[in-house]
Parts: sequence; C-alpha cells; structure tokens
Amino acid sequence: MLVLDYHLHLWPHGTRATGATIEQLAAYCEAARAAGVTEIAVTEHLFRFVQADAPLAGFWEDDPDPALRASMAAYWESHNQADLDDYVETALAAKDAGLPVVLGLEVDHYRGRMDKVAALLDGYPFDVLLGSVHWIGAWGFDILEDPVALAEWDRRTVESVWDAYTTDLEELAASGACDVLAHPDLAKVAGRRPEVPEEFYDRMAEAAASSGMAAEVSSAGWRKPAGEAYPAPALLDRFHRAGVPITTASDAHELPTVAHRSDDVRAMVAAAGYTELTAFSARRRRAVPV
Ligand SMILES: [Zn+2]
Ligand SMILES: [Zn+2]
Repeated sequence: MLVLDYHLHLWPHGTRATGATIEQLAAYCEAARAAGVTEIAVTEHLFRFVQADAPLAGFWEDDPDPALRASMAAYWESHNQADLDDYVETALAAKDAGLPVVLGLEVDHYRGRMDKVAALLDGYPFDVLLGSVHWIGAWGFDILEDPVALAEWDRRTVESVWDAYTTDLEELAASGACDVLAHPDLAKVAGRRPEVPEEFYDRMAEAAASSGMAAEVSSAGWRKPAGEAYPAPALLDRFHRAGVPITTASDAHELPTVAHRSDDVRAMVAAAGYTELTAFSARRRRAVPV
C-alpha cells in the first residue's frame, strides 16, 4: 500500500491565494485516505508568500531577455499574495487536530540566492522542504500556458535546456537548503527530451546522492505533455542504485487530483526495487515500508 502524498498545493496557478483552512486540509486527507494514502505533506510554493518578496523578487533581473524578464515579473506579481505565517499556523492546527498532515513547502531554486532562502525559512517548524528548479534565469520553462515561456522552447536546443536545468539542480542540491528533489527531471515537461538523456540522469542521480537528498516520484508528469511520471524509469533506476531514498507525490493543486494515479506510482516504485518510502518530521527522515 502506497502511504504518502508528499507534494500538495492549496491554490491552483492562475487563481488568487485565499486563506488556508483546516477544512480544506481535512478534505485533502479524506481524498488521500480513500486512495490508500495515509500521510500527506502540504507544500505550497515559496513564491506564493509575501514574505519571499523582499529577499527574492527581482531574481529575474539578471536575464538578458526583456520579454522573459517581463513575463516572470508578471508571474511573480500574480502569485505573491499569501501569508506564510497563516499557512504555517493552519497546517500546525491541522496536525494538532490529529489530521495526518506534515508541514512542508515547495522551495524553488534561486540561482546564487539559496542562502537568502535558508535565512528566510530558518525558524519555521517545517517537516519537509521540497527543492524544485522551475526556471532558468528569467525563463519559467514549465509555465506552458504562457506564450512567451512556451515560445522560448523553440529558441533553444533541448540539450542546452537540459544542461542548464541540471546545472541549477546541482546547485540546489549542493546548497543543502531542501530535503527532497521534486519532479527531478522536470526539464522534460514540454515533452522535449535530448537524444541521449543518460548523461543528465547520471548528473541528477549524483547530485541527489552526494547531497543526501531524497527524490520524489510524482504522477504530475502524466498530466503534462511529457506523458510520463517524474522521474523517468531510467532515472529512478539510477536513484535506486545510488541509494537515494524516495517519496511519492501527486503535486495536486486542487482536490480532484490529490493522490492522482497513486496505484501507478506504487507500481513504478516497486518495479525499480524500492521496498520503502521516506517520510519526514522536523526535517528528519524515517523509512516507511511500501
Ligand atoms: Zn514544482
Ligand atoms: Zn508543486
């Protein structure tokens, strides 16, 4: 029985962040339970929270492309509304009420600024921090609904995108700021893969293994042009051989996709030879039998 959904958002992209409520978390737990999932992590994006604005807004300003800079600035502006303290308090109240929730955050990669991220998050009682590469410079390469971001895929070679993505992933892992590599091969989101992905898989597996991070197995890629879970089976095999522990996740942004395709994720994990998942509490891991 698959027992974790360790990547859940409260607010869909393109909608305003409303206040988090215990009722919403209870509904998530109920949907997860119905799918055989016994513990969830709420992991809203760091960039949703106004507390991230002062230390991190403007990370896109170094990018030479004005269209990408404007696109990212607008994306940030449309998302940066919620209060981190409210979010944390709601999740803690849910835990206190006995719901099987752990407090997490999806921490985006900010090139050269992960020390600022760590300083911002220090002092909050997080159970688990996901680390994600969502943008390369000012380019939000996975914001496929943005025509500017989507068009950029035609202006670069797939190899250069994967190389830049992997370089950022290596920096993120080496920073030690996070616990789990989320959607580890997100560079395939648009369905474009290099002819020889193995060298990138090797680098991703080495980054995870040398940093001590876990990696996430996520059904979200099935809902994208990639048409494949994250990570690809060949990358998951490398994680397994390198001794990288794993979590499982849906990356749902609303109730209907909580625990999405958890049976298929469980089958993938088993096929790769994993017999346990990794849960977190106060950023310390514990093994959970599959
Ligand atoms: Zn993500
Ligand atoms: Zn996410």
